[in-house]
Amino acid sequence: MVVGDVTTGTDVLVIGAGPAGYVAAIRAGQLDLDVTLVEKDAYGGTCLNHGCIPSKAMITATDVAHEARHAEEMGIHADPAIDLSGMVSWKDGVVDQLTSGVEKLCKANGVNLLEGTAVFADEHTARISHSGEGQGSETIEFEHAIVATGSRPIPIPDFSFDDEPILNSRQALALDSVPDSLAVVGAGYIGMELASVFAKLGTEVTVVEALDAILPGYDDDLKRPVKQRANDLGIDFHFGYAATEWYEPGDGIRVIAEPAGDAAADGGEVQVEEPDEDDRLELDVEKALIAVGRAPVSDTLELEAAGVETDENGVIETDSRARTNVDHIFAVGDVAGEPMLAHKGSAEGQVAAEVIAGEPAALDHQAMPAVVFTDPEIATVGMTETEADEAGFDPVVGEFPLRASGRALTMGDSDGFVKIVAEESDGYVLGASIVAPEASELIAELGLAIELGATLEDVASTVHAHPTLSESVMEAAENALGQAIHTLNR
Ligand code: NAD
Repeated sequence: MVVGDVTTGTDVLVIGAGPAGYVAAIRAGQLDLDVTLVEKDAYGGTCLNHGCIPSKAMITATDVAHEARHAEEMGIHADPAIDLSGMVSWKDGVVDQLTSGVEKLCKANGVNLLEGTAVFADEHTARISHSGEGQGSETIEFEHAIVATGSRPIPIPDFSFDDEPILNSRQALALDSVPDSLAVVGAGYIGMELASVFAKLGTEVTVVEALDAILPGYDDDLKRPVKQRANDLGIDFHFGYAATEWYEPGDGIRVIAEPAGDAAADGGEVQVEEPDEDDRLELDVEKALIAVGRAPVSDTLELEAAGVETDENGVIETDSRARTNVDHIFAVGDVAGEPMLAHKGSAEGQVAAEVIAGEPAALDHQAMPAVVFTDPEIATVGMTETEADEAGFDPVVGEFPLRASGRALTMGDSDGFVKIVAEESDGYVLGASIVAPEASELIAELGLAIELGATLEDVASTVHAHPTLSESVMEAAENALGQAIHTLNR
């Protein structure tokens, strides 16, 4: 259908159908608002199509192969053959199922769906260009808008994602053959998750990280089991190096990395010291994955036409109700800044819709979980011991090592621990960190504990089924109370 230059009106225009935008649209529909959701690419955004879901599918599939290959101790001798294109098409099937589900849910909740690219024309009008030749454009007048345009991978100078051997995470998750060798630039969330995937596929993986450790922002004790497992997988690490250039010497590519400047160590922009031939690293690999962070997609929206401001990094700043500096325009998800986590975006999307509907909703980040799907997984929620201390609490910490968990031992996966932080005087749970198989699932109980104002006593006296990993949560609470049964009390 060719869409002419028509003007329609809507209560709420949501731009972007990722986990922040589609959730906002569905919630707005449930609240009887007239809502239009515009998406230029695919329902479900980066998370469903190119990020969380495909990466978790690939992590699971490569874990199955890896575990089968290393199950001799359990009396299993197997040598699974990997057909990457079969694995990728299974992953694509999962993605299709979820994205079509999103479309159906939106329609069932009365959301008007529009395919096209939106830009602001003024503070109550957006122009939508429809993709495809002769598809034209249309104008939407809105009472409220919710910007949910997400983020995109940051390239590094001289490493363009248009060059076939240089990959971003999206391209890496769509490869149809296993590379013999891969340089991973950046040991953050994406770098560490995908380094394991490729190592388990049999790729020789080398990680180059500007800082002196993996996973910036996470405590050392959480990173240790993950780094150890990565070493066991044969992943090589070069810390304190920034990738600066690459070329094709003949066969494959050569990635050059130089010692990173002090700014990187302080969390600032990555710069290299004076290049010195003797200090430089040269990595001869088949491909390179660049995972040095993501930047908000705010530069293509003509935000200035609506008067919406961003910070110097393009993040749209919002208040606790997801409102931008323009009262009737909201921003949710990655475009509204860190933490760039899908569930944070969804929570913000719901708040924005509810505020527009006149409800007293507000964002509450105190129990925002974060998960790194490494092997083993890392999950955190609330405050660390240091953060609790800095916030003026008198923290008490309980810990339970997985090697004392019957279930972890029966899974053949007992590296890690559960740590719980509470206020000593009254026992209120303040935070938790877990490194364990299924840490991503275990953390939910502790998020609920924080949300409900539960105490160590509440967690410790809740009967947990045996034998389960979740007993470790109860045991950590017992340990903080000096009542642990299966580990020595501190
Ligand atoms: P990140 O910020 O987690 O890590 C980037 C790493 O790259 C840092 O350690 C940084 O020091 C390093 N770096 C920067 N420039 C470099 C250079 N030139 N050479 C070598 N190292 C360099 O970023 P990411 O891994 O790209 O992830 C992006 C975002 O996506 C994150 O903010 C995260 O919130 C989100 N994400 C979340 C999940 C999850 O929730 N499990 C998974 C993937 C991504």
